[in-house]
Amino acid sequence: MKTIGVLTSGGDAPGMNAAVRAVVRTAIANGMTVKGIRRGYNGLMEDDIIDLGARDVSDIIQLGGTMLYSARSTRFKTEEGMADAIATCKKHGIEGIVVIGGDGSFRGARDLSLRGIPCVGIPATIDNDIASTEYTIGFDTAMNTVIQMVDRLRDTCDSHARCSVVEVMGRRAGHIALRTGISVGATAILVPEHNNTVDDVIEKIKATRKLGKKHFIVMVAEGVGGVDAMAKKIEEVTGIETRGTVLGHVQRGGSPTVRDRVIATQMGYEAVCLLKKGIGNRVVAYKLGKIENYDIYEALNMKKGFDEYMYNVADVTSI
Ligand code: ADP
Repeated sequence: MKTIGVLTSGGDAPGMNAAVRAVVRTAIANGMTVKGIRRGYNGLMEDDIIDLGARDVSDIIQLGGTMLYSARSTRFKTEEGMADAIATCKKHGIEGIVVIGGDGSFRGARDLSLRGIPCVGIPATIDNDIASTEYTIGFDTAMNTVIQMVDRLRDTCDSHARCSVVEVMGRRAGHIALRTGISVGATAILVPEHNNTVDDVIEKIKATRKLGKKHFIVMVAEGVGGVDAMAKKIEEVTGIETRGTVLGHVQRGGSPTVRDRVIATQMGYEAVCLLKKGIGNRVVAYKLGKIENYDIYEALNMKKGFDEYMYNVADVTSI
């Protein structure tokens, strides 16, 4: 392969820039030319292409967001959209593409691979909800942002013997809620993988109050939601002043942590090594401390479990 493209797609995540940088520099080191495709698959269909040299990716490793912009595109799923995308590849001599995004983006990468443009996916989403990998780029930074925010809430909870019910991201998965819950000493953690209710939370608050606990944090994943109603009920039943807080998109931003920068760099490097050998239709993955790769079809059919052991650790240590 002489020319490859790189794009970021779907929800943005801190560390995407570090991955773009690694892709560009690894490709150049291997004698390849790199085209940056802006706005995800939209840019591929609409010919929004830029040249990327080694210096064009200077000073981005520390930045959140993505210098290539990200987007969602329904048109890309149509035959016309796909034909436009392939025409852009032909026009610029793009022979393979590194797709940085989530499962949706990998489905697009699979479709392009099947039509003769080999693609390699890099998992990037703050939710860590991609089954084929133990780790997704952005997860660590997002969680560090959450604990910084909740530590601040905790200061005010402490001072007034209050309860804070905090919603964090994770529509289908409670990985952020679980690990940040442990990290801030949450009394209870509600995740979509379990059907615990506000009544269970109230029981836990009452039990720990008997043991002398004076302030309480309840961590709730977005997929469970309803923090204001929950806060109201906790206050009504326990008499403890309770507030709901939705952290929202603040969790998506910020300078990536060491973990995100390093893994993004490793994954970018690996993705280009695969394309260099002409291997496409793969996703890179983090497993047991190493970077692996899987067939996209196989990866999309994997199932990710919830860490029940950690959920139990959280429960036991929050009395
Ligand atoms: P993520 O990659 O973060 O999971 P999305 O699910 O929004 O985000 O997917 C990003 C983009 O990938 C979509 O806007 C669409 O262009 C493309 N995509 C998603 N699903 C498919 C699919 N089944 N076939 C082809 N392209 C898809």
